Amino acid sequence: MASSHQTALRSIGLRGLVVCMALTVASTTATVVTASDVLRVMIEEPVAGETHGGVGNLRGWAVASEGIEKVEIWIDGAYAFDAPYGGSRGDVGGAFPEVPNSDKSGFSLAYAYSNLSAGSHTISAVAHTAAGNTTESAANFTVVKFKDAFISGPNAVDLSGTSCEANGDEVSASSALIGGYLYDMVLDWRTAEQGFEIVEIAEKNNANGNGDTNPNPIDNSNFDCEEGLYYSSRPQSVSVDQTHRYYVYGWQGDPHICINTYEEGLLGGREEKVTSVMGWVKENLPNIIPVNVFYIDQINASDEAKRRHDTDFCKLVRPDDDVTECVNDSADSWGDRSYGGGVYSSYLHNGADLMIYDDAFTQDDSEDEGIRYLTHEYFHTFQTSHLFYFDDKQQFGISTRDEEEGKRLPFLPIWLGEGGADFASVAMMSKLDLEVDHYEQAIRFLNQAMRSLEGADASFSLQNFEDENTRINDEFYAYDGGFMAHVYLWHLDEGNFKKLMVDYYLIFAEKYKLSPDTAWKDAFEETFEISLENFYSDFDAFMTQDIESLRAIIKSADEWTKASWD
Ligand SMILES: [Zn+2]
Repeated sequence: MASSHQTALRSIGLRGLVVCMALTVASTTATVVTASDVLRVMIEEPVAGETHGGVGNLRGWAVASEGIEKVEIWIDGAYAFDAPYGGSRGDVGGAFPEVPNSDKSGFSLAYAYSNLSAGSHTISAVAHTAAGNTTESAANFTVVKFKDAFISGPNAVDLSGTSCEANGDEVSASSALIGGYLYDMVLDWRTAEQGFEIVEIAEKNNANGNGDTNPNPIDNSNFDCEEGLYYSSRPQSVSVDQTHRYYVYGWQGDPHICINTYEEGLLGGREEKVTSVMGWVKENLPNIIPVNVFYIDQINASDEAKRRHDTDFCKLVRPDDDVTECVNDSADSWGDRSYGGGVYSSYLHNGADLMIYDDAFTQDDSEDEGIRYLTHEYFHTFQTSHLFYFDDKQQFGISTRDEEEGKRLPFLPIWLGEGGADFASVAMMSKLDLEVDHYEQAIRFLNQAMRSLEGADASFSLQNFEDENTRINDEFYAYDGGFMAHVYLWHLDEGNFKKLMVDYYLIFAEKYKLSPDTAWKDAFEETFEISLENFYSDFDAFMTQDIESLRAIIKSADEWTKASWD
C-alpha cells in the first residue's frame, strides 16, 4: 500500500467517525479486475505507522468473487479471533460492483489497544474464501498506554496540577494524574478525526525519585535486627497524588529498635544502659519507624571494628551501590564524630539511624549524663519520621518536589529541632531512674541560654535561629534558647507539653502536603494558637527578664516527672 492511502484512511478515532473512504477504495481499485479472480482484504485500522492507545476500532473490508467465509485477526503473528464480517460498505460495493455482496464486506469491532504492551505491534487480517484461498493485509503500529489497561472512576483523572505547553498542532501535558499515576503526555491534532489524540505517554518517576523502580523488592520482611534491618532496594509507592508519593512499609506494624554494638569489650557494660533506655523509649515514646542504634568507642576501637560499623551504617543509609565509597568517605572523621539521629527520605524505608559514641558516657561524672545525648538523638529520629507520616492515611509520604530538588527532609527551624530535642531529653530523663537531676539539667540549659544573651543587642531574637545555628558567647542559642522557648510554651498552657512532644509534628506533616513552604509556621500557629510573630516578640522580651523570673517558669522536678505526652 502506498503511504498516501494510509494518510487518507487515518480517519477512525475513538469517536468512530468515518470519512474519506471513497478516496481509499477508488485508489485500491485503480487496477481493473475481473469478477472471477477478485480476492482482497484491507485492514484500515490500526493505521500502519500510526500510534494507537486506549479502546479504538479494529476494522477493514474483504471481498472475494467466490465469497468470503471468514476474516481472521492475527496479532503479532498469533491467531487472535475471527472478526465479525458482513458490515455494510456501500463504498466497497461501488468499487467492486461485479463481486457478489461486496456492499456487505465490512468487518469492524472495538478493540482495547491498551491491552497490548507499549511499543511496536502488528495486526493482520486474513481473509478466507469458501474454496480455501487466503489473502492478508497487515499494519505495523505503535501502542502508547497508561500503566493500567482501563482507567475508570469519577476521580480517575486529575489535571489540576498539570502544566501544558502548546507548540504547532501539538499539546504537551506534564504531570497529569491518571489512575493514581503521574504521566507526561503529548497530544497531536488529527485532521481526519477532527480532534486530538494521545500520541506519547511517559510515566513520571512514580515509584521513587531515582527512577529505579523495583517491582519486587526482596525485603527482609521480618525486619529482624540480627538479619540487618533494611530493604535490599527502595520499595515502590502504593499511591501518588499531586504532591507526594505514599508508602506502606513492611515493618509498620512493629517498628523495631535495633542496637548495633562494636567491640563490646571497650564499652564497659554501658551497652546494657543503652539497651535499657532504648527499650524504655520503645514502650513510652514509641517511634513509627525502626531505629537503628550504632554504638562504638570511636577513640579506642580497632580499624576493623570501625570499618564494620561504617559498612553497616552505609548499607542502611545508602541503599544505592555506593556503600564502599560511603565507608571510605567517612574513614577520616573517627575520633571527632558528633552524635546524631534522624531519617532522610532517601532511606526512610530502612528506618532511622542513631549514632552514639562511648565518649557520651565517659566525659561527665556520672555515666547517666550520657543518656541526655541518647534521648536527644532519639527524639530527632521521632521528629524527622513524623514529618513524613500522614496520620489520616497511615502512610508515609515523600514530597515529589523535594525529591526533584534533592531535598531529603522538610524544613524544620533549628531552634525547634534542637531545642525540641533538648526539651524532650529532659522530659524523658525525668521519667527514668537515673543518677542525674533532670531539674538541674534544665537549669543548666537556662544558664547556657543566658550566656548567649550576655551583651546581646536589641535585635537579638530566637527568629535568627530558624536556619542557622551560630555560637553566641560560646553557646549555641538554637539549643539552649530553643529549649527555653519550649519551656516558655509549656508554662503558657499545660496542654502544650504534649503538643511540643508529639502533636506539632503530626500537624506539620499534614500541612506539608498542601503548603510546604509555610507548613512549619502554619502548624506552629495552629498547634499553639499564637501567631509566630507574637510568639517571637513575647519570648524575646521574656528572655530579657532577670534570672529569677526565668527560673520561675521552669517546672519542678516533680512536674517534669508527672507531665504526660500520651
Ligand atoms: Zn541534635
